[in-house]
Amino acid sequence: MSGHQEHGAVVAVWTEHSAIGHHYEELLADGKVLAWTEPPFGETGHPGEDDPDYNPVCHCPGPTPRAFCMECAGCADCDQCRCPRPTLL
Ligand SMILES: [Zn+2]
Ligand SMILES: [Zn+2]
Repeated sequence: MSGHQEHGAVVAVWTEHSAIGHHYEELLADGKVLAWTEPPFGETGHPGEDDPDYNPVCHCPGPTPRAFCMECAGCADCDQCRCPRPTLL
């Protein structure tokens, strides 16, 4: 994701909101157009399996569960694991 950099006065702004994020375009006074996309709140910029933070097991941030239970293959940190004594990885 390219950052938003200031290069002069903004004369017009377009925004487009979709499932993958909020796309912005700015027309600057010098004729340049800046375009960037910000992920929707609480999401990453790369939903799905291409997401570097994609976690196939649970809802923990990052690619791995924070408390993966060997007994039930669930994540105790996300309340997937109901084991009385989780055997954490
Ligand atoms: Zn989890
Ligand atoms: Zn468990």
